[in-house]
Amino acid sequence: MTDKPIFNRLALIGTGLIGGSIARAARLQGVARSIVATARSAATRKRVAELGFADQVVETNAAAVEGADLVIVCIPVGACGAVAKEIGPHLAPGATVSDVGSVKGSVVHDMAPHLPAGVHFIPAHPVAGTENSGPDSGFAELFVNRWCILTPPPKTDKAAVERLAGFWRALGANVETMSPEHHDLVLGITSHLPHLIAYTIVGTAEDLSEVTRSEVLKFSAGGFRDFTRIAASDPTMWRDVFLANKDAVLEMLGRFQDDLSGLTRAMQAGDGQALFDHFTRTRAIRRGIVDIGQDSAIADFGRGHAGLPAEPLPRPYAADNE
Ligand code: NAP
Repeated sequence: MTDKPIFNRLALIGTGLIGGSIARAARLQGVARSIVATARSAATRKRVAELGFADQVVETNAAAVEGADLVIVCIPVGACGAVAKEIGPHLAPGATVSDVGSVKGSVVHDMAPHLPAGVHFIPAHPVAGTENSGPDSGFAELFVNRWCILTPPPKTDKAAVERLAGFWRALGANVETMSPEHHDLVLGITSHLPHLIAYTIVGTAEDLSEVTRSEVLKFSAGGFRDFTRIAASDPTMWRDVFLANKDAVLEMLGRFQDDLSGLTRAMQAGDGQALFDHFTRTRAIRRGIVDIGQDSAIADFGRGHAGLPAEPLPRPYAADNE
């Protein structure tokens, strides 16, 4: 809990996983005196009111931003431009406008032209999430020890950037600042390309005619199921990410295809040393992620294992062998 609220009135446009998590964490930490929320559909607004993580739920984006000193747009990146156009005339002078989109270049391009002078526009991306969507999926601890990347335009007021950084720190996040272009390149390799690969491999397995669907599900612990978690992510969000960050993802995809060709050639040539060396290098990356606290060292992502049955297992050949 912070000493005193950092913002007076926090407006959240979009209350799914990310908006819902911000609201819960902001309330728990007391970083905003009041929280007003809205969502596109009446069904989501009704559910947000039932869940009670905002002080007020309003019907329109324009009503949400009235009098707010922090507005965070938490919707798919492809919809950010239209929402900026809608809220622009209703923003309070001196308000900070931010977002949480997974792509930053397109958000800056789409939103900035609609925001009036005197408003601090500071795009942001909390690098934290799950494969679940909607207001029920949010939780207050989502951002703890995760990074939130801010991409303020060069002339942005430093005090406004520091205030928003303080907000995210209060939610448990570490904050880093970079340009939108660099953000999109980094996230292209750490997030967008892995999602593209997961979506591809899960689709390929589904399409295989030699292996039945039930076999794919039954033997998924062989590695496949870890891809299915990522491939279960929200289709609208990810459609927008690949359209909005096309250039960076295509560049990373080109490099990935080169590396895949290299491993293919190693297999064709029976070059075990090349495969071994590559896998040794990648294993070290996993250890590095654990070392800097971005994942747990518990085996198999901490999945539990069922106990052995209470009765001893049958030993079919015991009599012959003893
Ligand atoms: P979500 O759970 O699906 O929630 C999306 C919210 O946006 C809902 O309130 C939805 O309202 C609203 N919305 C959807 N389409 C809209 C439109 N065309 N116009 C206005 N509002 C619309 O999504 P999320 O996971 O919170 O993602 C929100 C943003 O966070 C995305 O930009 C995403 O790139 C970014 N992000 C996501 C993750 C992640 O892991 N999920 C991580 C970091 C950043 P209704 O429910 O009424 O449709």
